[in-house]
Amino acid sequence: MVKKEQRVAYFCMEYGLDTKMKTYAGGLGILAGDYLKGAKDHDFPMVGIGIKWKQGYTDQRIDDEGKPYDAYHNYDYDFLEDTGVKVTVTIRRQDIVCKVWKVDQFGNVPLYLLDTDLPENPETWITGQLYGWFGEERIAQEIVLGIGGVKALRALGIDTDIYHFNEGHALFAGFELMKEKMDQGASFESAWEETKKETVFTTHTPVLQGNESHPIERLMYMGANNGLTVEQLVELGGAPFNMTVGALRLSKKSNAVAELHSETANDMWSHVEGRSEIIPITNCIHRPTWVDEKMLKAAEGEGDLWQEHMKNKRDLIDFIEDRNGIRLDEDKMIIGFSRRAAPYKRSDFIFTDEEVIAPLLESKTIQIVFSGKAHPLDDNGKKIVKSLVKMAKQYPESVIFLENYDMTIGKMLTRGSDVWLNNPRRPKEASGTSGMKAAMNGVLNFSTLDGWWPEACEHGVNGWQFGDGFESDDEAELDRHDLKALYKVLKEEVLPTYYENHEKWVEMMEASINSTKEYYAIKRMLDDYYSKLYQ
Ligand SMILES: *Cc1c(COP(=O)(O)O)cnc(C)c1O
Repeated sequence: MVKKEQRVAYFCMEYGLDTKMKTYAGGLGILAGDYLKGAKDHDFPMVGIGIKWKQGYTDQRIDDEGKPYDAYHNYDYDFLEDTGVKVTVTIRRQDIVCKVWKVDQFGNVPLYLLDTDLPENPETWITGQLYGWFGEERIAQEIVLGIGGVKALRALGIDTDIYHFNEGHALFAGFELMKEKMDQGASFESAWEETKKETVFTTHTPVLQGNESHPIERLMYMGANNGLTVEQLVELGGAPFNMTVGALRLSKKSNAVAELHSETANDMWSHVEGRSEIIPITNCIHRPTWVDEKMLKAAEGEGDLWQEHMKNKRDLIDFIEDRNGIRLDEDKMIIGFSRRAAPYKRSDFIFTDEEVIAPLLESKTIQIVFSGKAHPLDDNGKKIVKSLVKMAKQYPESVIFLENYDMTIGKMLTRGSDVWLNNPRRPKEASGTSGMKAAMNGVLNFSTLDGWWPEACEHGVNGWQFGDGFESDDEAELDRHDLKALYKVLKEEVLPTYYENHEKWVEMMEASINSTKEYYAIKRMLDDYYSKLYQ
C-alpha cells in the first residue's frame, strides 16, 4: 500500500485540464492536468499552483503562403471561482498584486491560478501570454508562480508537506521557502537544508537549450533573488544561473520522465555538485480523458475491437472533413502525427525521400494527418510547419495538416488513426505521452526507441520500433540511419500487416491496449511519486 499522507503542492506553469481552458501549451501541461485529475480520482492529498493566462499559448494560423503565424486572443474563463485571496510579490522593486482563482470542475483536485491582470497593478501583462517571452518577462512570470504561489498557499491556509516543482520554472518557490526560514533567524545554509527536505523536482527536457538560464544581474534586478545575495545565487544555480541546476540543488530528490530519460539526465547533469539524485518515473495518462472505454472493453473480449476502432476512425474522418474540407478513405491506412514542431522531433522526416514516399501517397496507400505548433520564437520549428503544409497542398488527398493543435485534435487523432508515428532523434524525447494515448486506443505505435517506447515496445507484437536505438552526435548520420530503418519497417512490416494480414493487425491492437492500459494509467505514476519521490 502506498502511503498517501504527504500533502503535496504541485507547481507548474501550465495545466491542460480541458480544451476550453487555454492554460496549456503542450506535453508538460497535459501531464500536469492528467496528474491533478488522477489525484482526484484516487484521493491523493494534493493541490496545484499555476497561472491564469489571459491569452494562453499562441493560436496557430496559416497564411496564404502556407507559413504559420501566431495569433492571440483574450479568454474569458468565466468558470473560475474567485477565492477572495490576493497576495503581493515584488518585481523590479514594484509591488505586484496577484489575485488567486480556483478551478476544480474538470474532475481535478483544487488548482489555484494566480492573475496579475488587475487595475491596481502598474503592470498587468505579466500573466498575459504563456511562454511568450524568454528574458525579464519570463522571470516576472516565474516570480508570480513561485513566490506568489507559496504566499497563496499561506493565505489560503493550505498545509503543505511537499513542494513539487514540475520543471525548473517553479524554482523561485524554493527561494520563498528559504526566505521564510531566514526571516525566522535561520542561516542561509540551514534554510537551504530545511527547504531541501520538503522539495522535489521533475526535469523534463534533455535538450540543453530547453533548460532556462539567466544572468545573475538580471535575477537581482528583477528581485527574483528574494533577499539572497549574488554569492548565494551562484552557489545554488551557477553563473549564468541555470534554473534546472538550481532545482536539482534545492530538492531532496528529482525524477526524469522515463527510464532512458533518467540515464540521459544523469549524464547531462553529472557535473553538478550537491545535486539530488534523478530517479526514473515514467509518465502516465489520465485514461478517462483520452481513452475510449469501449476499446478497453473490446480488448477484453467484450465487443468487436475492429468495429469499435472503425467508429473512431470515421469520427476522425468526419472531423477532418469539417475542418479542412477533405474526406479521407476509411479503407486506407491513416498515420497520425501530432506534436510540437521542434527540429529534434523531425515532423517531416517521412517525406525525406520523395522517390520512396510519392508512390505511397499518390496511391493513397498511406494517408498522413499532421498537427503541431512551433514555439512562437522558434523559426526552425515554423519552417517545419511550412514544409508540412506544403506537402498537404501537393498531396491534398493523402496529406492533411490540422491547424492549431490542441486537446481536441490530440484526442481525435490518438483515437482515430491506425498508426501513431513518432521519430525523434534518440535520446532527445523525454517521454511522449501521445503514444500512450494511441496505444490504449488500439492505435499502433511506430516509433524510434526514444522516450517511453523502449520500455513498452514488443516489436511486431504491440507495435513497431525502427532504428534499433542507434545514437550519433552526427545528426546527418543519425537521420540517414533512421530513415532507412523507417522505410524498411514501413514497407516490410507495417503495410503488409495492415493490408494483407487483418487478423494479425487486430491481435496487435489488442496487445497494444492490454500491455499498456494498467502500467501507463495515471494511478501507477501517483503511486510512484508518493512512494519514491515524496516519502
Ligand atoms: C498528449 C498531448 C501532448 C503530449 O504528447 P507528446 O507525445 O509528448 O507530444 C501535447 N499536446 C497535446 C494537445 C496533447 O494532447
